[in-house]
Amino acid sequence: MPEMPEVETVRRGLIDQVKGRKITHVEIRYQNLITGDVDQFVEFVTGATVTDIGRRAKFLLIHLDNGYTIISHLRMEGRYKISNDPSAIDKHSHAIFTLDNGEKLIYNDVRKFGRMQLWNTDDLSNNKSIQKLGPEPLSKDFTFENLKPRIIRHRKDIKTVLLDQSVMSGLGNIYVDEVLWKVKIHPETSANHLTDKDIQKIIEASNEEMRQAIQAGGSTVRSYIDANGHKGNMQNSLKVYGKEGTPCPRCETEIEKIKVGGRGTHFCPKCQVIK
Ligand SMILES: [Zn+2]
Repeated sequence: MPEMPEVETVRRGLIDQVKGRKITHVEIRYQNLITGDVDQFVEFVTGATVTDIGRRAKFLLIHLDNGYTIISHLRMEGRYKISNDPSAIDKHSHAIFTLDNGEKLIYNDVRKFGRMQLWNTDDLSNNKSIQKLGPEPLSKDFTFENLKPRIIRHRKDIKTVLLDQSVMSGLGNIYVDEVLWKVKIHPETSANHLTDKDIQKIIEASNEEMRQAIQAGGSTVRSYIDANGHKGNMQNSLKVYGKEGTPCPRCETEIEKIKVGGRGTHFCPKCQVIK
């Protein structure tokens, strides 16, 4: 699943090629891709110019000059490509936006879990999906004062709490494992047992992890490719995710993989001891 750094990489890839372009034609081939009325989506998007491409956590925000924004969630396998070659369109191409320079912005999604929704730009913070998102790393709201109460009111394990996008947003399964390894906290530690210092370290490590991952262009753990067809190379810097059975880069103890809250979880049993 693309995580926040991958979505940020897609955003940066798209912005150069799509910002300022007018969308002259819209074709939706898979109706369920659109949350809301499909005909209205096509009507409002056709003829609009893309003024900017933003992001909130894992949502891409394609801002239009008519006061509307396309909220795009890639979910498991969604991806964008830009091409004027008709062979770039295949049975997995569910939305095709023709641009005024003849290029097509093609949304592909093998598993069809991704969604797009048109929303009033001034009212984005009231959109149901966006409204519930907690603060995200590298944003001004990502502070100790904001995060501490959100984290310690849970008795659940910290892994599950950090994955909960309403607590903090942007970190998925890969980066939560990496952050907890970095700060030496066992993924099954109860969130309400964390000290102020632990929370401060989680905040710093989350910022650092996201900064590095964005710089590296995201992780290509599965099939992620950015809008320009480049693969991310953050997977080369991962320390524990997918590394079960290999030595911990810090202490050389074998990394273990367990299930926490139903999610595959990687950790070092020596560096990360439960409190
Ligand atoms: Zn270790």
